[in-house]
Amino acid sequence: MADYHVLDLYFRGYPAAIAACAIPHERGVILVESGPGSTLPALACGLERLGYRLEDVTDVLLTHIHLDHAGAAGALARRGARIHVHPVGAPHMVNPERLLKSARRLYQDEMDLLWGYFLPVPEEQVVVPEDGKPFTLYGHTFVALDTPGHASHHYAYLWNGEVLFTGDVAGVRLPGARHVRLPTPPPEFHLETWRASVRKLLDASARQWVLTHFGPVDDPEWHGQRLLAVLDDLEALLEDLMPREPDVETLTQALLEWTWKIGQEDGLTREQHEQYELVNPTWMSALGVQRYWRKFRAQPEGS
Ligand SMILES: [Zn+2]
Repeated sequence: MADYHVLDLYFRGYPAAIAACAIPHERGVILVESGPGSTLPALACGLERLGYRLEDVTDVLLTHIHLDHAGAAGALARRGARIHVHPVGAPHMVNPERLLKSARRLYQDEMDLLWGYFLPVPEEQVVVPEDGKPFTLYGHTFVALDTPGHASHHYAYLWNGEVLFTGDVAGVRLPGARHVRLPTPPPEFHLETWRASVRKLLDASARQWVLTHFGPVDDPEWHGQRLLAVLDDLEALLEDLMPREPDVETLTQALLEWTWKIGQEDGLTREQHEQYELVNPTWMSALGVQRYWRKFRAQPEGS
């Protein structure tokens, strides 16, 4: 079967943090994820090694619109690419003001340094695939799978029935590690829908999953079951912790201890643990679980 290429975008200079995948075809190249605006030069380098320029990107399939996945989509649209995106995310690619404002609240002074430019995508270049309905681009067949839980605007893409590009709904797993971590950012982390989405990924029966953070997973059944177990474990932790209404610093600390405990069980070195933190900072996950708990799980006073 046709091949795809994992492009390392060397986010902040680090290898294996953010990937984009390139699928060559007779008229150019399809990308899964654009990466952030800040890594556009690294994306150009990766494509050049395959014999392509940014102008040769015909289509970008975004798993979701978080800046580390979609930030450079507008820059690629300017060079002619069509941008495929979940219906909930599509309006924010055309008018990114609200998305950028809430990102700036989170990242503050580091926003531009981390993520670079985010250009809007012209509406006529936005394509919204339908959940579960196959579509073909230059001989390659894709099926977008609606997979909320990490974000409400999340698609995973099944390619030619065999390879599943999972975005963030399959979590984070660094090369060479048998350890899966959950990115649970605000504002849309939702435990129950995430569980259902993992089952949907498993039901697609792909022989390989490809994570944006980072790269191919050749044991998708193990990985999926592990994800479900980690979701259960997180829920148990929260049920114990959240009734005491910890502040966000206390919650971050508790989550850090929890991830490090699982990391050690999985044989992670301290250095690998830090690498996971770079890709998936725990302070951000703490904000996400806090919001989820307050919105969906906390009992109103007196009940
Ligand atoms: Zn994300």
